[in-house]
Amino acid sequence: MTKLEQVQNWTDKQGLDFTYLSDPKTIQYLTGFFSAPVERVLALVVFPDKAPFMFAPALEVEAIKDTGFPYDVYGYLDHENPWQMIAEHVKERNANPKKAGLEMTNLTISRLNELQAVLDVSFTTDVTDFMNSMRLIKSPDEIEKLDAAGREADYAFQKGFEAVKAGKPESAVMAELEYALKLKGVMEMSFDTLVQAGAHAAEPHGATGSNLIKNNEMVLFDLGTVHQGYISDSSRTVAVGKLSDKQKDIYNVCLDAQLTAMDYVKPGVTAESVDKVARDIIDKAGYGKYFIHRLGHGMGMSEHEFPSIMEGNKMELKPGMCFSIEPGIYVPGFAGVRIEDCVHVTENGCEPFTHTPKELKYL
Ligand code: MN
Repeated sequence: MTKLEQVQNWTDKQGLDFTYLSDPKTIQYLTGFFSAPVERVLALVVFPDKAPFMFAPALEVEAIKDTGFPYDVYGYLDHENPWQMIAEHVKERNANPKKAGLEMTNLTISRLNELQAVLDVSFTTDVTDFMNSMRLIKSPDEIEKLDAAGREADYAFQKGFEAVKAGKPESAVMAELEYALKLKGVMEMSFDTLVQAGAHAAEPHGATGSNLIKNNEMVLFDLGTVHQGYISDSSRTVAVGKLSDKQKDIYNVCLDAQLTAMDYVKPGVTAESVDKVARDIIDKAGYGKYFIHRLGHGMGMSEHEFPSIMEGNKMELKPGMCFSIEPGIYVPGFAGVRIEDCVHVTENGCEPFTHTPKELKYL
């Protein structure tokens, strides 16, 4: 069954007359076509017993057809009313629709109001959980794309490490590694690249800035690329000059936690137990209060997927699940270390998408 047919089935089982999909990532997942047309309207409308259609700005229609989408694609011009047109196309397939599904985590209230103004339909059922459950297990072709994105991240680390030098701002290192990626044809990062040096790295949600890299401190990289819609996301922390025993200790504890958690992952263990394995190591070493986020997040087409690797998530891991393993130790005013690989669960363990070595590297 194709992914679209699964949504069709779900629509049928829920007793809905159609499902209105609006999240560009969902549409990409189901059709292979990606565009995030901001204020313009892009929608995929799925019916229980009729072929779906796509609705898009006129300037996107050819690109959608080029992806091989085998069903109707309707375009609209900027001066036309997209909602009226969507309603007409729905009614061509079902003259009297009553109930519909929608993505509550994506469709804005103003757009829902627009739809309800032209269609006498109650949008009752959220398709988000179903989409998340579909996206939870990656197929072999998705794993291949994630592997390719991982190789791009490895290349980015190589170029980033080459750029590190005492006296240089973090932003220059970021610029050099992203420039190297662009020269290779890698055009999109999956999120803003992080290069943070010294105490600045103790702010895990900080941004790359004008902070200068100094000797005898660590530099934290967190980066990823997008490959055919699939992302990489990986972190490495490297040393510049010499490190004190405390800096080395923080690094080694974080690494031990990361490797032990990776080793522990296999089908049947719970998401929360993976978090605990890593957290126990950091706790025992006395740095527990400096590990201030969950161990990992699901990933695939974005870094905001499932399963979440954290306390309280009793979900059992299954082959094909993909997530990050990224313990961090952030000592305010002193240093921050994070070591991260995204992995996919295999029949008897897990495999990372990134392979940049993790022994402490001195630059
Ligand atoms: Mn991450």
